Amino acid sequence: MPSTLFDKLAVLTRYFGYGSFRPMQEEIIDHILAGQDTFVIMPTGGGKSLCYQLPALLLEGITIVVSPLIALMKDQVDSLGASGVAATFLNSSLPAGESSKRLGDIFRGKYKLLYLAPERLLMEGFLEIVQKLPIALIAIDEAHCISEWGHDFRPEYRKLREVRALFPQIPVVALTATATEQVQEDIVRQLNLQQGRVFKASFDRENLYYEVRAKQDTYEQIRKYLKTRKGESGIIYCGSRKGVESLTEKLQRDGFGAVAYHAGLPAKDRTTRQDEFIRDNAQIIVATIAFGMGIDKPNVRFVLHYDLPKNLEGYYQETGRAGRDGLTSECILFYSYGDKMKIDYFIDDKTPQNQMLARKQLAQVIGYAESTLCRHRLLAEYFGETYHGTNCGRCDNCVKPVEHVDATVLAQKFLSCVRRTGERFGAGYVIDVLAGSENAKILSNRHSNLPVYGIGRDHSKKEWLQLSRQLLSMGYVIQGDYNVLKLTQKSLGVLLGEEKVFVKPLREEKTKFVATAAGPVDEDIFTRLRRLRKKLADEQDLPPYIIFSDASLRDMASRRPATLEEFAAISGVGERKLAMYGSVFLEEINSGR
Ligand code: ADP
Ligand code: ZN
Repeated sequence: MPSTLFDKLAVLTRYFGYGSFRPMQEEIIDHILAGQDTFVIMPTGGGKSLCYQLPALLLEGITIVVSPLIALMKDQVDSLGASGVAATFLNSSLPAGESSKRLGDIFRGKYKLLYLAPERLLMEGFLEIVQKLPIALIAIDEAHCISEWGHDFRPEYRKLREVRALFPQIPVVALTATATEQVQEDIVRQLNLQQGRVFKASFDRENLYYEVRAKQDTYEQIRKYLKTRKGESGIIYCGSRKGVESLTEKLQRDGFGAVAYHAGLPAKDRTTRQDEFIRDNAQIIVATIAFGMGIDKPNVRFVLHYDLPKNLEGYYQETGRAGRDGLTSECILFYSYGDKMKIDYFIDDKTPQNQMLARKQLAQVIGYAESTLCRHRLLAEYFGETYHGTNCGRCDNCVKPVEHVDATVLAQKFLSCVRRTGERFGAGYVIDVLAGSENAKILSNRHSNLPVYGIGRDHSKKEWLQLSRQLLSMGYVIQGDYNVLKLTQKSLGVLLGEEKVFVKPLREEKTKFVATAAGPVDEDIFTRLRRLRKKLADEQDLPPYIIFSDASLRDMASRRPATLEEFAAISGVGERKLAMYGSVFLEEINSGR
């Protein structure tokens, strides 16, 4: 077997562009490569796909991936293609001619991975064809669809039992993000995985920040929040279709790129709007819980709940759509006791049996909303896990209560640097000047001659960045096009020494799981890279994240590689992407330096 440690890591870097495995990935891959059945339970964003994609590249023959989400197959195959992995799919969306052409190529050994919908696999005569293929591995994605206990039960999935019986000697890997024991047990039984090993990762999503905010003037709260999130993707969940429509309208009126999504819309509209969101044409999607199944957008940076969710599992699933790429993302629940009454009212209409369950679930949600304990802990314990940390640093209850500290002098330094550099730059540049950086752009602008140059060396760039974010959210500066910072009336008071500034203590942020450990991200470069990515994606008719993930762009904006060699070290840059995009991105990173 060609699966030495060297091969695994070589494939990881060459194709996927990563330098190391995520927790559990390596053990899982070893187990699969040893030819054993495997059951993978990992939360969304844990990195399940790699667990079968990497073995597929190392094993002889072809790996069949059964997935219920036809809409996502093209995406997955495109994404693999962009990394130089030969993959294809067969499903009902293809014209007959194209299908038979692909089948021919499959038999000629052109592909390492074949994605199939279960109904396709089970189609008359197709299994006989498949049996003639040199199959290396069968991966069953979204395996919870096999269970009637799960919310996404697919009758076609039940029949996968037969497939399992037809290929007794071929290893199977089943993957799911389902947290409930009952469904997990059902999957093992249905797929006959008793002999296999179960790999269950923690369901704690370390990169998500959870917060509950008391509803005051909720629309205003949301509007303010969104203003600090310019250009970032997010979902806002509302409890009703009407709520969705009216919030979307208000947001649109206020100039936000928001689209509405709920089950009452014609299928065509739903698809277009979803697509707008996926392609970063619409920044925000306002939706009922009908939205989200089969959404694989990795760079969702925030999930807001305008209304109270009906149960905690749903809340976990919905917020779980944030931060699949592992970058820090925010989940904020807006809560008022009045919302509980509204739901109570709906519950009264249910049958007595359903009422009991609904009330119990609602009580759990309220318990979560009103708790002063760590929210990561509350969610972990809800799913039967023991939580070991004491302060997660990633929820309002752990981060607060914060005493604000006097940061007047720091704010004066920062604001005066914004002014001295002409209110023409983003925070990254301003901080570089404060830090006395010798980057070429600063030197050529002669900003090294300014009196503010280097006066911020006593604080880290991270601390400055936190200060700048806080100044922004408090209105001491505003952010214009290209993230350029401008002073406000309020900042003049500070500069004149008439107003004191109090901020949350500046501290080094925890950056676990985040690819960008190299240093602060230059937001200006990041914005430009995002724009370049969008342009290339549109030219190739692909969603932007297939070109590079946000994590990769942030890594670029933080390390600012100057050569192709340095570019290759960026997380998510493998051989293919280096060749395809290396020079254009380098040019963008280094332009205006
Ligand atoms: P899941 O299917 O479990 O929700 P994905 O397979 O979509 O998760 O992976 C989530 C994200 O993590 C993707 O952007 C993927 O490229 C990234 N990822 C996976 N494995 C690694 C790794 N070893 N290092 C860095 N990023 C990774
Ligand atoms: Zn916490």
